[in-house]
Amino acid sequence: MEEKNRDKNQLLTEIITETVYKYLADAGLTSNQDYTIPVEVSNRHVHLTREALDALFGQNYQLTKVRDISQPGEFASDEKVTLVSSKMRMIENVRIVGPVRAYNQAELTVTDGYTLGVSLPTRLSGDVVGSQSITMIGPKGAINLPEGAIRAARHIHMTPEDAEKYQVKDNQRVKVETEGENGVIFKDVIIRVSNKCKLAFHIDIEEANAANVQGTTYCRILFK
Ligand SMILES: [Zn+2]
Repeated sequence: MEEKNRDKNQLLTEIITETVYKYLADAGLTSNQDYTIPVEVSNRHVHLTREALDALFGQNYQLTKVRDISQPGEFASDEKVTLVSSKMRMIENVRIVGPVRAYNQAELTVTDGYTLGVSLPTRLSGDVVGSQSITMIGPKGAINLPEGAIRAARHIHMTPEDAEKYQVKDNQRVKVETEGENGVIFKDVIIRVSNKCKLAFHIDIEEANAANVQGTTYCRILFK
């Protein structure tokens, strides 16, 4: 009789545990996934078109690669520009990330926005319509962009295979938890699926500092 009760209690405990766990997972409050997605941190930088690079550095100027960065083909260059806001406040030595792109953009942090005296909209890279105006100054000239200064929206790059593995879709917003002491749960992380990319969670340096991201850190999607 006692034995039977014990079995019953154990079964009940298992059912309750499972139910609570499922509830938390559905609510995006826990995950049974391991920390497998590398966290990569970007500091302020700009992307330039061929025309903008010509105007700032001279005709047909070629960027000098300092090092490859996470996504295939992208590199940090040795060249830097000065940014001046509509409030006539500036930030010097902002690195250009190459190669040249189809649009001009400055990816800045919230604190950079305070420094420049402007409020930066949070946008995915390339989505600059209606963003802050900014002037870029190089050694050979300056360009005034009516829009282009943003704070980059946190996002995860992944291939279609990764998307299948993590059960997410392109443009989906998820919660992401970073590992370790002082780890942080980031909301509104946008999934970006593409064939030519490497799995990585991209945040800016201020978000990384808040989450105590140092060296190689991994994260996981809070998702059932
Ligand atoms: Zn990215």
